[in-house]
Amino acid sequence: MTEKRTVAVSGKNVYYFGNGTAEGGAHMKELLGGKGANIAEMTNLGVPVPPGFTVTTDVCTYFMEHDQGYPDGLSEEVEGHIRRLEGDMGAGFGDAANPLLVSVRSGSRASMPGMMDTVLNLGLNDSTVEGLAARTGNRRFALDSYRRFIQMYGDVVMGVHTDHFEAALDARRRSTGVAQDHELGADDLAALIEDYKRIVQEGAGRSFPQDAREQLWGAVGAVFNSWNSPRARSYRHMHDYPDTWGTAVNVQAMVFGNMGDDCATGVAFTRDPSTGEPRFYGEYLVNAQGEDVVSGIRTPRHVNDGEDSLERIMPRAYSELEGLYKRLERHYKDMQDIEFTIQNGRLWMLQTRNGKRTGRAAVRIAVDMVEEGLIDERTAVRRVHPEQLDQLLHPMIDPKARGEAVATGLPASPGAASGRVVFAVDRAVAMAASGERVILVRTETSPEDIDGMRVAQAILTSRGGMTSHAAVVARGMGKCCVAGCSDLQVDYEKREFRAGTRVFAEGDAITVDGSTGTVYAGEMPTVPPQLDAYFHRFMEWVDGLRKLRVRTNADTPQDARTAREFGAEGIGLCRTEHMFFGEDRIDVVRRMIIADNEPDRVAALREILPMQRDDFIGVFRAMDGYPVTVRLLDPPLHEFVPKDPEEIAALAKRLGVDAGELRAKTEMLHEFNPMLGHRGCRLGITYPEIYETQVRAIMEAACAAADEGVTVKPEIMIPLVGMREELALLREMVERVANGVLAEHKQEIPYLVGTMVEVPRAAVTADEVAQVSDFFSFGTNDLTQMTYGFSRDDSARFIRAYIDRGVLKHDPFETLDTVGVGALVRMACEKGRAARPSLKLGICGEHGGDPASVHFFAGVGLDYVSCSPFRVPIAKLAAAHAALA
Ligand code: ADP
Ligand code: MG
Ligand code: MG
Repeated sequence: MTEKRTVAVSGKNVYYFGNGTAEGGAHMKELLGGKGANIAEMTNLGVPVPPGFTVTTDVCTYFMEHDQGYPDGLSEEVEGHIRRLEGDMGAGFGDAANPLLVSVRSGSRASMPGMMDTVLNLGLNDSTVEGLAARTGNRRFALDSYRRFIQMYGDVVMGVHTDHFEAALDARRRSTGVAQDHELGADDLAALIEDYKRIVQEGAGRSFPQDAREQLWGAVGAVFNSWNSPRARSYRHMHDYPDTWGTAVNVQAMVFGNMGDDCATGVAFTRDPSTGEPRFYGEYLVNAQGEDVVSGIRTPRHVNDGEDSLERIMPRAYSELEGLYKRLERHYKDMQDIEFTIQNGRLWMLQTRNGKRTGRAAVRIAVDMVEEGLIDERTAVRRVHPEQLDQLLHPMIDPKARGEAVATGLPASPGAASGRVVFAVDRAVAMAASGERVILVRTETSPEDIDGMRVAQAILTSRGGMTSHAAVVARGMGKCCVAGCSDLQVDYEKREFRAGTRVFAEGDAITVDGSTGTVYAGEMPTVPPQLDAYFHRFMEWVDGLRKLRVRTNADTPQDARTAREFGAEGIGLCRTEHMFFGEDRIDVVRRMIIADNEPDRVAALREILPMQRDDFIGVFRAMDGYPVTVRLLDPPLHEFVPKDPEEIAALAKRLGVDAGELRAKTEMLHEFNPMLGHRGCRLGITYPEIYETQVRAIMEAACAAADEGVTVKPEIMIPLVGMREELALLREMVERVANGVLAEHKQEIPYLVGTMVEVPRAAVTADEVAQVSDFFSFGTNDLTQMTYGFSRDDSARFIRAYIDRGVLKHDPFETLDTVGVGALVRMACEKGRAARPSLKLGICGEHGGDPASVHFFAGVGLDYVSCSPFRVPIAKLAAAHAALA
């Protein structure tokens, strides 16, 4: 930790909320955590929230830095707040006759679902449980609360795995012959509590603490420590949250959803988190507590849909809930994710936060809220994360395809994916690492499964609702998910699941449709997504705000058309070599490559010319009115010829040459370091006829397209230039051929000649290179490779370790290294523009579609970024965010 905040050691470390006023507010998330800040805000709004207090994140930081110690005076401060809480609740903490019970809840700045552990019913012990039973006249409830408390506390604070308690609970259920926890009677629960205490004694080597204050400090310490649990770290890493934030602890008076049938607990979203439709969406359980709804223990009911909805069963509490959710949404001006409990018909709010949502929902909600007058367009644009748009652009199962539907669950997170079934996280990780597409199948997921969820194409669970862990986390990751698929019986031991009569083992292929909730056997074909009116409206605002242009990398007319549909404003990179690989032409290309002499090579090139020309005509048509940057041949020639002896023999036969001679020729193409070898402009200089043919094809296509009335703006790009002299030589050639073609066709088409900047020397000498270049296009893949000296093709072997050990923060091939590679980009821009003020600047590496990198490119003043067609809207939104920043 480099930047230490001053910890208020002797100042205020605890903040009270209750009785209609709170010392904190929503603006204090840094200090109070998101949960504490919003609880304070709700309290101040007059929303019914059980009173309590928040211990600040500063104390967490102190705790971490002082070997789990607390600042001086904290215990007195907490004690004072307990007394105030006792006063407000009319009960005593640890008081055997009239016990005050509290929950101990974590809460960092940003919501980290399920990452930190909550303990409920704290303050119960062998005597207070009797007091609670007597005061409420409900012994069953008191015992149920106590056994829950021992289980949670045993797990979270004392490190006794919850499975041991679940097994004991299971055994009790079986011996009493009931199906569900809430059917267990008081005597069963009393016996279960004894089981639990034994489990704690055995598992932790000490007895369950009976002193309320000891319980409290144990829980507070456990919350602070859970900040550094592996799963919390993993989640932070995935979301780029700094480890230094720390968590607050909220100590709050308990309200009870498990006191009987006029009690309930639930979670809800103020709008549909999957589609964004403005309808209240929630799930609840009668006579239940806390996480029962999201844990999948019982299948929850809908708050406002069906015979057993909350609206029907507890109409008063429901209408109160309706009034509150509308108020909270108006207040926060965003969709809220709320948690509530009903105790004896009375509604209490326990949490509110901005709800996680799918990309589709994010766009729809932003657009609707502008129309409702809640937010303005700029806010709407800010609300959607560029990566969220990715989900809108994901494939769906081809509606025409007929699959064998084997099960149906809840459509928890949209999109469709095929892959191989896997049950265990470590297996998922291993299979994914070997290049398999996997689908993680679980009865339900928990935070421990995060790594498996991350590598999976989709997640399928047999239990849990739309707000289950699996559903929430999958939506956050933009991953397709089907949850609560009760048709499935998952058997972890056998590594298989049953769906009706069908059995699927690990490695079997299935397809999951998170938009409908359907699970299919085998792989299903998918189609690209349909973009709706909300999306187009939203993108209009984005386009109005951004300054950076967004082009696409497209090699074929088909890609170019797709990219136009996604809003691409030209092509930043058209790779001609991909055109060489067509089945109908690869052999001609090979003939050109193995030609012994120039006439043979020219003859082969003459055959290639019309094919390339036709491709370019298609591309120019698709990009009518927009610039098209065509890169001349770049990869080393050996990439085009086979290596396998059998394939070489077959090729020799097709070309009518001697197989031995052909093998010798392909061997001659071998290079020790092909990425630094005979490629790019080096090919153009040694085999000028290849580049000449390509330029001719481009310019003839331009003339042909122009004849049809298409507005063409060709930009010819020379790859891998490191020296002004290379480009000067090739530029002369390009101009000679291009001007010749234009003269033949009596056309006047303005065209540009420029270079990729991907060799560090080109960046360093950009002022010289710019003298002969109309534009620079940063090839950040190669530039990264050559700046770091990391091979793009082999770096996977160590990059992971670099990230794990903190040497690198990100893979520099995914997110631009703004410090090193970025310095070269910046230098090249400055020097280049100084030498040639009209110099056009763009980037065509993979980084053009990475939001963080786009921010950087906007900052250095590029004219455009270019990325794959599906990432065009993402790059546009990132560019708009950069303009708004
Ligand atoms: P998370 O951050 O995992 O959502 P919470 O702190 O929100 O954890 O606690 C989980 C659940 O426990 C809440 O949604 C609520 O149902 C229940 N809970 C927490 N505090 C209380 C309380 N004081 N009274 C009743 N239920 C509570
Ligand atoms: Mg939770
Ligand atoms: Mg919560």
